[in-house]
Amino acid sequence: MNLESLPPVREIAERHGLLARKSLGQHFLFDLNVTRKIARLAGPLDGQRVMEVGPGPGGLTRALLEEGAHVIAVETDARFLPVLEELAEAAPGRLEIVQADALTVDARTLALDAIVSNLPYNVGTPLLVDWLTAEPPPARALTLMFQKEVAQRIVAPPSTKKADGKDYGRLAVLAAARARAQIVMQVPARAFVPPPKVDSAVVRLDMLPEGERFMDVKALETVTRAAFAQRRKTIRNGLSSAGDAAALLEAAGIDPAARPETVPPEGFMALARAWRAANPA
Ligand code: SAM
Repeated sequence: MNLESLPPVREIAERHGLLARKSLGQHFLFDLNVTRKIARLAGPLDGQRVMEVGPGPGGLTRALLEEGAHVIAVETDARFLPVLEELAEAAPGRLEIVQADALTVDARTLALDAIVSNLPYNVGTPLLVDWLTAEPPPARALTLMFQKEVAQRIVAPPSTKKADGKDYGRLAVLAAARARAQIVMQVPARAFVPPPKVDSAVVRLDMLPEGERFMDVKALETVTRAAFAQRRKTIRNGLSSAGDAAALLEAAGIDPAARPETVPPEGFMALARAWRAANPA
């Protein structure tokens, strides 16, 4: 059996009696038109080492293999191992299956080119933060499906609040400091089995090269955590928990009366540098 002659993903899943488990954030993509589009948006993948978190019944995995990728699939739910083994046989030597919780996997050890995943909702954001902050980055590009609201928070420009359906905050600042992020595809809830309550979107994050990406992630996290803890107050108010707010803001050239959500990523990077100058590592 090769990839082209495999039966539809839904049929394989049904044959193995695989029903979605809510506790593991399981919503499956059985439509190869959708998964192939995601794989192409992540590409070119021919000959690339790609990690996929949560392959489940393997719809996206199959599309990644069709694009010529070498896939390392990390799945926590052992029920999917037999289906994934079938897929591995259809693409000899190109699918490694790892049964593990992705939060415990150090992606930097896998010599990856890309990470492509339809992430489980409950661990999507922590995984993204891990990958964005790791140095060196675990892959050149991350192409990831999130709930639409989370996707919008990742790419949100300054001065956007929940009311706009966007939400500029710590995640957007971190993403902008380390990568170029854009929403590349919207996926309606009805594309999944079972359909989740909300729509989804695919975000592609291309890591910035060394020299362009902001390196002192710890300082950046310190100032953004402090500033955004008190969104409705001025940035000076929030920052006071991280040090001498007035001095930090002056060094960074930021108006102390500004609200944190109006300060662009470059402003937070300047603040992080000022914080580090006052708090040498
Ligand atoms: N990729 C498949 C698809 O698109 O049809 C399944 C996506 S489903 C939203 C999320 C998958 O992640 C499930 O298969 C679930 O078992 C798996 N998963 C949940 N938590 C995980 C974790 N911590 N580590 C690895 N896989 C996890």
